[in-house]
Amino acid sequence: MLDVKMAKTPLLLDHLVGFTMIRDLELLEISLLNTLHNLMQPQHLEILKLDSAGSPIEKILHGKPTCSIQTDNLTISDELKQADQAISASELSHIVTRNDQGLLFVYLLLETQFEKSYLVIASPQALSDQDAYFLSGVLQIYRNFCSLLQHAQTDELTGLANRKTFDEYFSKVRKPPAAASGHDAADKRADNAGEYWLAMADIDRFKSINDRFGHLYGDEVLVLFSQIMKSTFRSDDMLFRFGGEEFVIVLRCRDQESCREVLERFRQRIEDRNFPQVGVVTVSMGAVKLDPDTFSATLLDYADKALYHSKHNGRNQVTFFEDMLAEGTASRHVVEAGDISLF
Ligand code: GH3
Ligand code: MG
Ligand code: MG
Repeated sequence: MLDVKMAKTPLLLDHLVGFTMIRDLELLEISLLNTLHNLMQPQHLEILKLDSAGSPIEKILHGKPTCSIQTDNLTISDELKQADQAISASELSHIVTRNDQGLLFVYLLLETQFEKSYLVIASPQALSDQDAYFLSGVLQIYRNFCSLLQHAQTDELTGLANRKTFDEYFSKVRKPPAAASGHDAADKRADNAGEYWLAMADIDRFKSINDRFGHLYGDEVLVLFSQIMKSTFRSDDMLFRFGGEEFVIVLRCRDQESCREVLERFRQRIEDRNFPQVGVVTVSMGAVKLDPDTFSATLLDYADKALYHSKHNGRNQVTFFEDMLAEGTASRHVVEAGDISLF
């Protein structure tokens, strides 16, 4: 019995070495699918992500030669809906169910406050002992490794991605699709993506909130502010806490006007929220279109200039660098990394 298990061990070790070299959660998901495909050759293999209400937000399908990532018009089958409900209502990390084609093995991969991801394997018959053995080992290593990565990429107070993570995400978003990360599936996502915009948001007069109410209330404002961010922007927009009360949003929009609408809606939501004890809090923003040919330090500087404009024209507003160019109050130039200082 042990010999049969050992037969796949070198292959497994190769995959695990590959896993632990990856520092990007998205590539790790694709690597997991490739690993399981190579080890088990199941009929169908996918990762399904659901939001906290159980609605599908992303599907990564294993396919040959590449994986495909779907985020639009997703539906979820009744079997998977029931599997999600059963796992959510219990301590189980996986269940086996059935559909027309055979058995469905549904494994909870990761669960955060905002989303759950499942590995779904379809097979006409039960998994062999050997496959079940490898699967449980690989998934345990995968979960442990993901939580290490997530911990390193996350700002502890707000749960948003931290500044360190920004550069990695940013380099992926700003590259043209053909060059993005060298991975086909990631390329596809960039292909569907439309225009990206970068917005820098800075809470107005935050120092005075700390001074008047104390740091604990200041921290609470940051937490609530981040929650409003998460509920305002789409799940595939990227939200970062850059520093104390400074945030960066990379969002996908049809055009500048739709980006303005989304940012205005966020600005308004912050203004309308009655923050406990503190009352009204406002935010200023500066935005710029992501141009794949412009360095990230330059784009951050453009967004910062637009933010500075908002701050100096009464705060609680959104400025686009493109509008400043049109008005002649700013011009394009190149900034070296390290030149930039934020609010
Ligand atoms: P402006 O409208 O011009 O942005 O004014 P501001 O007061 O928001 O800006 P300033 O940069 O002068 O102050 C930011 C303050 O944020 C200073 C710092 O003490 C506070 N801060 C930074 N990080 C944290 C944090 O994690 N928690 C709390 N409570 N305060 C923080
Ligand atoms: Mg501020
Ligand atoms: Mg600031």
